[in-house]
Amino acid sequence: MDLKNIRWDLSDLGRIENIDSEIKKIRKLTKNIENYRKDFNEDISSKKFLKILNEVEDLMIMLSKIASLVHLEFYKNTNEPKFHSLVSKMDSLGAEVSNKLMFISIEFKKFSEKNAKRLIEEIPSHRHHLRRMWELKKYTLSEEVEKVINLKDVTGINTLNSLYSVFTSGFTYEFEGEIINQEQLLKYVKDIDPKKRERAYQLLLNKYKDNKNVISIIYSNVVSNWKTEMELRGYKSPISIRNIANDLEDKDIDALFRAFEKNAIIFHDYFNLKTKVLGIKKLRRYDLYAPISKINKEFNFNQAKGIILDSFSDFKEFKEIANGLLKDHVDSEIKKGKRGGAFCHGSSQKVRPFIMLSYNGDLKSMETLAHELGHGIHYSLSSKNNIYAYDAVLPMAETASTFCETIWLEYMKKKFPDIKKDLAFIEFDGAYASIARQLNFVIFEKKAHELIKNNGSSEDIEKLYFDLLKKHFGDSVELNDLFRHEYLYIPHIFETPFYCYAYGFGLLLALSLYKKYLEDNNFKKEILKIFESGSNDSPRNILKKAGIEMNEEFWQKGFDYLKSLIKELK
Ligand SMILES: [Zn+2]
Repeated sequence: MDLKNIRWDLSDLGRIENIDSEIKKIRKLTKNIENYRKDFNEDISSKKFLKILNEVEDLMIMLSKIASLVHLEFYKNTNEPKFHSLVSKMDSLGAEVSNKLMFISIEFKKFSEKNAKRLIEEIPSHRHHLRRMWELKKYTLSEEVEKVINLKDVTGINTLNSLYSVFTSGFTYEFEGEIINQEQLLKYVKDIDPKKRERAYQLLLNKYKDNKNVISIIYSNVVSNWKTEMELRGYKSPISIRNIANDLEDKDIDALFRAFEKNAIIFHDYFNLKTKVLGIKKLRRYDLYAPISKINKEFNFNQAKGIILDSFSDFKEFKEIANGLLKDHVDSEIKKGKRGGAFCHGSSQKVRPFIMLSYNGDLKSMETLAHELGHGIHYSLSSKNNIYAYDAVLPMAETASTFCETIWLEYMKKKFPDIKKDLAFIEFDGAYASIARQLNFVIFEKKAHELIKNNGSSEDIEKLYFDLLKKHFGDSVELNDLFRHEYLYIPHIFETPFYCYAYGFGLLLALSLYKKYLEDNNFKKEILKIFESGSNDSPRNILKKAGIEMNEEFWQKGFDYLKSLIKELK
């Protein structure tokens, strides 16, 4: 089928030919800001301070434009050496600028409480950003030490992370006589043929098992590095580092995990139901994402675009923004050398976001497009903020995307009643993968960090992972021993420890918002406000303004929505 895929137009970000002159301008601006250093003290007037913040903002917008341009060109052409060197050029420019301007946050944190509070009060447009900077003071080390950490990270933890990604992305698999990469292999875990699903998992996990000596060393060093920073900076626990970075309190996340524990049975019920629908005796771990039947529907890009825009009909603003992005800021073509996966990239509030995917015409592809458009809608709505509040914190960032996915799925069920049941199972498979699976990774991480601190071996870690999996699935799923190596292939636990709960947080929040919207159409306004807030306040306060208290009962609403979906499936 002619997929009618489209390409993006990156001209809003500038031109590659002009990079060197842009870099010159950026260095000049950086120098100007550095000159403020001599009279940057706690008696500074709020007017002068705001002027500096605004100049830094202009600089950040310029820098993010060229950095985005280079990275997006690179993702489109990963096999062109020209872009490799440009990417490292941008990375070092970023480190250089951030080191030179680091004095602002370091010095600000040294101000007396009285003066810091005066500035925070007198600059309302930056209130949350400054307040947060002030609160992070207790975790900040001296400027010299911070600089050394920055520089040593380049050859330390950053190199470990690149090593993991370069090493594992080089893995290839021989599947049915063909040599394929991991992304291609993972498609088969959702295949209609049970043998193919089993084979795909076995190839994948055996590859990681065969390389576990290298990968587990990387993991234990990533964890040790995390612990060193935790101790140096005085964080309470390993997960606190992530919570604080997410602008959340430990108690917010504890409540989420408590609610999850109480509701784990929902997923067991679901697997038991799926076992029945598939007509098998026992659901094997290999069958977790098995489709319940073969869907032969295909959609070209124009059709997918039309369906998604129609599904947003009740949300005028969403529809308008998505339509705009689909004109020139989406790249959907399938191309050799293009980075795998899909993403939405927000450069700064001054440029509309960009979306990349490889659209192949199936339902999953359309779902991905709806998801990424959700991110694009979120960025666009929050572009009213300044650059410091433009990006939502990670857990909130997955809310708009999964919210849009939910709207799309519900619309699809109505539009295509013949595949309604399939869609409902796809929806629940997705909910399992985003909520239960991801939260279980974090439960594992908490214990693994403790275990490695106490000199646990890689065998201990495997055992821990496997024991948690057994508990996670209970009697509802038959586990193969190979899955003890599964943790080795989860990039997030290497690259961004404790990140995974953001997926559960985002989807549960999205489901609760959706439930409230179904009960009261007027709640739409509050949803828009949440997305418009970006990170101009903490998630707790942003939600409070929409009448939501982030506690265990609130998380329960998301789980209740899932329970209602199971009823629908029965
Ligand atoms: Zn996402």
